[in-house]
Amino acid sequence: MFDNLSNKLDRAFKTLKGQGSITEINVAQTIKEVRRALVDADVNYKVAKTVTDKIKDEAMGRDVLIAVSPGQLMVKIVHEELTQLMGGEKQDIVLKGDPAVILIAGLQGSGKTTFTGKLANFLKKQNRSVLIAACDVYRPAAIDQVKVLAEQVGVEVYSETDNKNPVQIAQNAIEFAKRNNKKVVIIDTAGRLAVDEAMMREIADIKNAIKPTETLFVVDSMTGQDAVNTAKTFNERINFDGVVLTKLDGDSRGGAALSIRAVVEKPIKFISTGEKMEALDLFYPDRMAQRILGMGDVISLVERAQQSFDEEEARRINQKIRKNQFNFDDFLSQLEQIKKMGDIKDLVSMIPGIGKAMKDVEIDENAFKPIEAIIKSMTKEERANPDMISGSRRNRIAKGSGTTIQQVNNLMKQFNDMRKMMKNMNKMTGKGGALSKMK
Ligand code: GDP
Repeated sequence: MFDNLSNKLDRAFKTLKGQGSITEINVAQTIKEVRRALVDADVNYKVAKTVTDKIKDEAMGRDVLIAVSPGQLMVKIVHEELTQLMGGEKQDIVLKGDPAVILIAGLQGSGKTTFTGKLANFLKKQNRSVLIAACDVYRPAAIDQVKVLAEQVGVEVYSETDNKNPVQIAQNAIEFAKRNNKKVVIIDTAGRLAVDEAMMREIADIKNAIKPTETLFVVDSMTGQDAVNTAKTFNERINFDGVVLTKLDGDSRGGAALSIRAVVEKPIKFISTGEKMEALDLFYPDRMAQRILGMGDVISLVERAQQSFDEEEARRINQKIRKNQFNFDDFLSQLEQIKKMGDIKDLVSMIPGIGKAMKDVEIDENAFKPIEAIIKSMTKEERANPDMISGSRRNRIAKGSGTTIQQVNNLMKQFNDMRKMMKNMNKMTGKGGALSKMK
């Protein structure tokens, strides 16, 4: 995400390194480079100018004597200004009302329906009962798509195949939610390929009729300045409450993320970073600024882990480790949980330092596949009792999983090493163990 911008900013700060203080003369070059980096990232020119002017004012006013180095001071100032540019504080969605009603608007292909599924998943994890209303009456396939996603996340869908009136469907969905004790209704609407009057009127009509607690505008971040312009047009017409930026995983420039707030004056509330249902994050301006500056984003990483890891399952596995009973079923379950956290490359980019160092390294998303295939080719008994997996069984497993005997041996070795390590840990932390007194 935003690799180019991170690199260019990094270079801009380097021009300041080794200088004793920030002066009008030595900061000018850096400011120019920061501005160029922002414009190259497809940030609106006016926005780039305003923000760099502010950065300059801030830099000139700071006491450089106590600064660690002028370059570091600049990173801090730019971080602060980018954070402000993206809205400063995180803004939550409003879930008032019974049910709370969230209206989703955006162009076709922006990722509206995918986001609807993700938001349902996100809210369900907060123990809210969610209903999705499918109001795209033009494309029957759209309703099917909603149903597939809803099923994946375990949420009910309200749709009316023969009704061509989206306002009515939305109203009926809300009535249905009231009768069925659903606390949140997410209304997925029809989009068009480009902004058009009929679509705008339809969304405005739905909005007027149902008075949603929250209207979210979904936009594809990869479209850069177009995303900003579309957001502006939609906002003038439907006065939405927040923006959802999608496909940030494919956005290498970052222009939309940086300028949408300043141009449209509405906060970004969510970012979507992949096709998986878990690839959704709340938008924190300061963390995004950190990521842009290559400072990593450990906090989001930890939160993603907390959300994706099933507490109950973690406890169960912990128990098994303590009893030295960790087996291949548990291993497979752990792999599943890691995969749920989202795109591996995206996760790696959140780790400070590593994100930058790894940016050109190909991360193989399929690395888990042979491991899974091997484990799935084991019998139930073998998975539960890995010690029984002899040479001839290994041969059979390799054949069954389409891997080689070496791959199976490697996995067995890694697994046994892991179990040994767990056993040792248990000895150290268990009753009478070396570390037990320290607890
Ligand atoms: P809609 O027409 O606005 O409802 O858009 P869809 O939800 O059908 O999304 C259009 C395409 O973009 C689909 O292929 C989605 O899988 C894909 N998509 C949606 N969100 C993301 C995202 O955050 N990242 C990536 N890489 N793809 C996405």
